[in-house]
Amino acid sequence: MPYRVTFIPGDGIGPEIAEATRRVLEATGVEFSWDVQTAGADVMDQNGGNPLPPRVLDSIRETGVAIKGPITTPVGSGFRSVNVALRQELELYGQVRPCKSYRGVRSPFEDIDLIVIRENSEDIYSGLEFEQGAPETASMIEDLTRRLGKPIRPDSGLSIKPISVTGSRRIVQFAFDIARAQGRRKVTAVHKANIMKHTDGLYLRVAQEVAAENSDIEFEDRIVDNMCMQLVQKPELYDVLVLPNLYGDIVSDLCAGLTGGLGIAPGANHGGRNALFEPVHGSAPKYAGQDKANPTAMMLSGVMMLRHLGEREAADRLEAAIAAVIAEGDRVTYDLKDDRNDPSAVGTAAYADAVIAEMGA
Ligand code: NAD
Repeated sequence: MPYRVTFIPGDGIGPEIAEATRRVLEATGVEFSWDVQTAGADVMDQNGGNPLPPRVLDSIRETGVAIKGPITTPVGSGFRSVNVALRQELELYGQVRPCKSYRGVRSPFEDIDLIVIRENSEDIYSGLEFEQGAPETASMIEDLTRRLGKPIRPDSGLSIKPISVTGSRRIVQFAFDIARAQGRRKVTAVHKANIMKHTDGLYLRVAQEVAAENSDIEFEDRIVDNMCMQLVQKPELYDVLVLPNLYGDIVSDLCAGLTGGLGIAPGANHGGRNALFEPVHGSAPKYAGQDKANPTAMMLSGVMMLRHLGEREAADRLEAAIAAVIAEGDRVTYDLKDDRNDPSAVGTAAYADAVIAEMGA
């Protein structure tokens, strides 16, 4: 039986890199039945102004697995991010971002193999915000000042950071499960518990409790600022990192930078029985429709999807072919060349052809 997978091409460079990814996935010999679903600003008009029509969510709920190209979030238009909405609607609480060195990619380090796990559902991203100058903000400030006995400047805006026992337990256990499934040795919980005792302090306390229940895997914790410095100086000391939403967002980009940047950074979002695989980068509108963008991050998201489906051998074969094409360095997109203006760079589709040829397919 072919795997039924929801396929969301996205917009900007999305359709091109999604097509390249579909082709390399099919060339592994694994069979797919794609349920193609469009979303984003381009299809809003046909869907009563909704960039995330219910059919997209229904499809993912039915298939349980989706692969997605990037989707543009227009700035300052009141347009709700489809990417954030998808994660919220499907309660995809656990984001996984592997950060791995590939020979041939320009980067400051050679042997990085980290997994960053980001909590996706709470923290300062909860949208609980009070605008500076609004009457309800003024009364909130008065109330907080009275209750806590600590003055808050009256011209402040406020953002609320909820971190729960449930959310912390769920994400830290998820990190241990991933570590165990992938034969990893250590989980590091990252926080700022010395300052935010009732949110990050709670997170750390729960992480320690969960670690005690998973004692087959080593556990440690780091304060986020120290973590950033250590990652830049000695990334080889770390293995699986688990972080609340905001630190996860920032530190995962730092780790992508350590291994060569967004062009090769894949990602997955998990929650319950649903999983959505997508590159970390955005829709790069300036390259849309030019057959120029690098599809590696989405192809590697496809590799993660194959592993999730239990197709380990196909995943290893596809990843090895991508690594070989990058290491060889001839048939790669402009951004993987030493000189970004190198005329021998190939386009998105030809890069996919090279990966397929490398697999001997
Ligand atoms: P971006 O990732 O699209 O681009 C950042 C830089 O990297 C640009 O110079 C871009 O040209 C380059 N780049 C990115 N991916 C590339 C690729 N595959 N090959 C070659 N070059 C690549 O980030 P941005 O410009 O901040 O965002 C553009 C749009 O994408 C925004 O609307 C944003 O909201 C959206 N976005 C979507 C997602 C998602 O769908 N998950 C994630 C991030 C950003």
